[in-house]
Order: sequence, then C-alpha cells, then structure tokens
Amino acid sequence: MHVEVAVVGAGFAGISAAIALRADGREVVIFDRGSSAGGTWRDNVYPGVRCDVPAHLYALRTHPNARWSAEFARGAEIHDYLESVARDEHLDIRLGAELASARWDGRWHLTFTDGARATATILLLACGRLSEPRIPALPGLADFHGPVQHTARWSTELDGKHVAVIGTGASAIQLVPALVRRGSRVTLFQRSAPWVLPRGGSDYTDGDRARWSRNSTEMTVVREALRADGERRFPSRSGDPSAAGQARRVALAHLRAQVSDASLRAALTPTDEFGCKRVLLSDDFYPAVAGEQVVLEPAEAVRVTGDAVVSARGVTHDGLDAIVFATGFHATTPPIALRVHGEHGVALSAHWSTGMTAYAGVAMAGFPDLFVVGGPNSALTYTSSVLMIEAQVDYVRSALTMREASGVPLRVRADAEIAYTREVDRRAQGRVWLGSCDNWYVDARSGRLTVAWPGTVDEYVAGLGEVGAEFEQVAAGVGG
Ligand code: NAP
Repeated sequence: MHVEVAVVGAGFAGISAAIALRADGREVVIFDRGSSAGGTWRDNVYPGVRCDVPAHLYALRTHPNARWSAEFARGAEIHDYLESVARDEHLDIRLGAELASARWDGRWHLTFTDGARATATILLLACGRLSEPRIPALPGLADFHGPVQHTARWSTELDGKHVAVIGTGASAIQLVPALVRRGSRVTLFQRSAPWVLPRGGSDYTDGDRARWSRNSTEMTVVREALRADGERRFPSRSGDPSAAGQARRVALAHLRAQVSDASLRAALTPTDEFGCKRVLLSDDFYPAVAGEQVVLEPAEAVRVTGDAVVSARGVTHDGLDAIVFATGFHATTPPIALRVHGEHGVALSAHWSTGMTAYAGVAMAGFPDLFVVGGPNSALTYTSSVLMIEAQVDYVRSALTMREASGVPLRVRADAEIAYTREVDRRAQGRVWLGSCDNWYVDARSGRLTVAWPGTVDEYVAGLGEVGAEFEQVAAGVGG
C-alpha cells in the first residue's frame, strides 16, 4: 500500500492535519495505535477529567461545536467531538496500527507492530507530547497488593476505596475532588504545591446550544475573544514580574478563601515561581483537600511497602487499597523518535540526543518529507494548544504545496534549524521556565526549553514568514 501523506496519530493534531492537507486534493491516511480517534481524550478517562481551556477555544476553528455542555468541557465530550469531526469528514483512519518503524530512502517505508507495511511520500507525526505515562520506579511497587494505575491508563474504578494519589499536577487536581465525590478516601502525595487559580465557568443552556446550532457566527466571535484573552495571558505565565505578581496574589487569595486551617494552607502554599510549571485552574481542589476524606502528605512518595506508601519525610501511609500515579508524561523524550530514521539511517532520537529541536517546531534537517505537529517547542503554557496545532498545520500545508511544485523531496536546511533553535533559546532566556523549578518543558540533558513555545501564538506565526528559503531539495541517492 502506498499513501501520499501518512499521518501518525488521530488526536487533535492528526485530525486537523488530515482535514487541511486533504483539502488540497492529497490522499491522507491516519494511522493510530488506539481503538478510536481522540488521542489524549481517548486515553484520559480518569474520574473528573475535563479541559481547563474554554471549550470554544479548545475546538478546531473549522469545526465549531454547538453541543458543548459547559464552558469547560468534560473529557468524554471532547473525545465525542473529535470522533464526530473525523466521522463527518470521512477521514481514512486505520485503528490498531502502531508504527514500529519508519525509514526514508527517497520515500518513507512504514512497518507496524502487527507486521503490516506501507510506503508514504510524506510522513507527518502527530503523536502528542503527553502520550507516554511517566511512572517513578518506587522500590516495592511490584509487590503492592491492589490496583496500581496511571491517570492516563485508567482501568479500575476506585469508588469508596482508600487511594494513594501521587502528584499534584493538572490531572491530580481534577481526580482528587472526583474521588472524594465518589466516596473514596485519598492520601495525596505532594512533592511541590501547584499554583491554583479560580476556574469559574458555568454550564451552557439548551437555549445557548439551539442558538449556536442555528448560527455558528457567535461561536466564532467567542473563540476569537478567548484567543485574544489567551494571548494577553502570556506575560503572567512567562515570568513578567508585574503580571505574574498580580496573578500570584489572586492565587493566594483563592487559597486563603478556600482553606481555613493555617498549617494546611502553609503546606499548600507554592514555593515555585508563578508560571514555572503549568498554572492550574480549579474551584474544587482546595475544598477537597481541606475536607475529611483527604490527607495531604507534603512530600515525595519514595517507597512502597506492604499496603503502604512511604514519603521522603519518612511517614508511612498504610491501609491503602490502590495507588494512582498522576505523575505526568515523558514529554521531552518521545519514544516515537526511536522508531523514525531519516537520511543515512539516522534515528530521530539521535538527532534529538541532547533535546528536541526543529525548524518552526515542525521540520528537522536530515529528515526529508517528515513533519511534526505538536513537536519541539510547540506546547503552549497559557492558552489552547489547538491554536498552535492549527498554525503548524497551515505551515505544513504551504510547505507541501511548495514541494509538489518541484516534485522533489524537501528537507529543511541544517543552518535554518540551527538559527531557529538559537532564536527559541533567545526568547526563552530569562523566562520563568528556565532555572526556577523542575518542569516538563525543559530537557534535563541540556537544560534547554524544548517542549514549550516561549512566545505568543501571534509571535510564532509572525516568525515563520514566507515558507521557502528554509528548505532545500534533496538530491537522489541519499537514502538510508
Ligand atoms: P504533571 O503536570 O507532570 O504533574 C506530575 C505531578 O507528579 C507533579 O505534581 C510532580 O511533582 C508529581 N510527582 C512526580 N513524581 C512524584 C513522586 N514520586 N511523589 C510525589 N509527586 C510526584 O502531570 P499531569 O498532572 O498529568 O499533567 C500533565 C499535563 O497534562 C499538564 O501540564 C497539562 O498540560 C495536561 N493536562 C491538561 C489538563 C487540562 O485540563 N487541560 C488536565 C490534565 C492534564 P513536581 O511538581 O514536584 O514535579
């Protein structure tokens, strides 16, 4: 089987790319290892899962959704939304197709884990950056008697159980209140206290939905306003002293208003700089932690023994029925990079051996006709990641139009990638993500910011300029 454009991943990035690239008449096939489309919203089904980005901004600009139940959508309805977009667009999605290897020798040779093979002219990786769970190797974990699961691999319901939740990031602060509502007791291991702002947001009414179904213009206007709001939020999330200081005061007032016990409040008071990790939005996390069903252990989980988890302070919490790791993902070292080989057989993981780099976050020197959406320096820490996906898809679409005009494989120039990387480093310099705390935006191997984009979406788009000079045509006979 030969396909013109093979896309790996059927989440927001893959679906958005497939729709846009097919619009020019290209044949596009999406391959996904899962059993349905939806990416992160298929994988994350833990109790309480929602998106803390407003729903109208967390949707494709080409597919506004009149059916959202609330200003902040639940995970299941985002999954439904993506599946319905894929269905309505009649996208060709091959499910249960996990890419085992991709090798370029003038075209891409794809092998899947079930032994199936295909070739493709263009390979587009849209595998997500938060798709490979990270579980700390705690001694004794293998001998724990009950269920052990990561938030993104939820398989056993834990209603009414005594659960150790490890981590206090965006997933944990949604999970803990939901477990409490379901009658569970929670021992929460907090290595660092997160910054939490009020979320707000209400349910939409049938009237709202009926109005949007009749006329989608209002949704587009709302989306534009939310986009502009997000762009204005960048200074407070990137370390601007005045904007961050103001947001910090709102977060501390939120904590004071919701937690009356002074010692608990002290334990929940963040010490990291505001914005160096993702700033969280929640109205029910602090009340849940302050309630009788939750015990906060303000230390790292270091060991499991019998039915207990032991913290770095040496405190043993026993009588546990289950352990949940809300410990995040391998964002800086995507395993897919081990499977993709470009010119001369070089692995993408080798190209990224000291940290991910790419021109525009999209194209890598030595990897002709390969594009990434949602790759290096593409995460947005302050607004909807869909905006970046759409900007990158627009860019790839222009690059492919240029490639098709010549009919010759296209590769980004090494000097263009290096210059772009220098510009990312320059933008990141002095920003809050570097040096002020450990976070998943920075690659520990190099200390470089490799996951997050250190600017606004408008700055990203402006930085791209005309597509063209950054690419060169690949001479024949350089395959791997
Ligand atoms: P995360 O933000 O990486 O948080 C992992 C948490 O685990 C951190 O609190 C970390 O502590 C903690 N941790 C790791 N090892 C530990 C140990 N041994 N003991 C105690 N704590 C430990 O992961 P996440 O919460 O899954 O979120 C990942 C990303 O997914 C988010 O940043 C966001 O981009 C996305 N997400 C989005 C939403 C949404 O509503 N849009 C919801 C969920 C997730 P440290 O802080 O000390 O490292």
